[in-house]
Amino acid sequence: MRLILLGPPGAGKGTQAERLVTKYGLLQLSTGDMLRAAVTAATPVGLRAKEIMSRGELVPDDMVVSIVSSRIEEPDARNGFILDGFPRTVPQAHALDQMLKEKGLNLDAVIEIKVDDRILLKRIEKRIAEMKARGEPLRADDNAETLRRRLLAYHDQTTPLVTYYRLQSVLRTVDGMAPIEQVANAIDGILKAYRAAGAATQSGKLGIAGRQSRSRKRAPARAGSAKPAAKQLQAKEKTAKSGEPRRAARRPPGGKSKRPRRLTKRR
Ligand code: AMP
Repeated sequence: MRLILLGPPGAGKGTQAERLVTKYGLLQLSTGDMLRAAVTAATPVGLRAKEIMSRGELVPDDMVVSIVSSRIEEPDARNGFILDGFPRTVPQAHALDQMLKEKGLNLDAVIEIKVDDRILLKRIEKRIAEMKARGEPLRADDNAETLRRRLLAYHDQTTPLVTYYRLQSVLRTVDGMAPIEQVANAIDGILKAYRAAGAATQSGKLGIAGRQSRSRKRAPARAGSAKPAAKQLQAKEKTAKSGEPRRAARRPPGGKSKRPRRLTKRR
């Protein structure tokens, strides 16, 4: 299973990802962690990223794209992975689509953890006060001012991904203000539905790469060709895209509409 966790800094993506690692045996790929490791090791990437990260800005797309691309080729990523903190911009999302396509991989789900900015600021202030009281060291980018800047960057550059993935019919949203266990249950429910749909369409061919190549070919869909679980999922997706093939199937060119008769009276 390959997932993206989408959400502002401090929304709990890391916490949820850790739980998914234990529960589903997936690999957590946090671009923030990978970049911090590069900074600590003073690699060329780390040296480039250090200042940018401490200002709370995003490092250039090419840097993170190449880090992710080589990391997902490693053997421990074969069972699947959770992308945490990537993609963060629309060009990064395009690069990811391209990268997965080239590697013959699909994305199964994009889960948005939605949290109010004011709650996030309160949370970080509380956490910093607690860490200071315990005498623990703080990260260079761990303060309310940097968080404010990172939230601005998130809304400016990352929020468009919500629409990007909604249009691909893979976005699911959970309430990140609920208690951690409740958020976890909501995510489990989403993954269960994807697994059922994936099984029904033979090894998850409804993933993003599969969807895109299908819609590009625009093959007329055969009515009733999708298996029940996948059909149910598609019916719930309120996007223009998901409606297109079904309309094409109902009205063949030059033919009569094959719209099934309504069983209930129109009110
Ligand atoms: P995070 O731990 O995910 O909040 O990331 C910490 C910092 O790493 C961010 O503030 C950025 O400077 C950098 N970073 C992490 N992921 C990305 C990404 N996908 N694109 C650009 N910069 C990133």
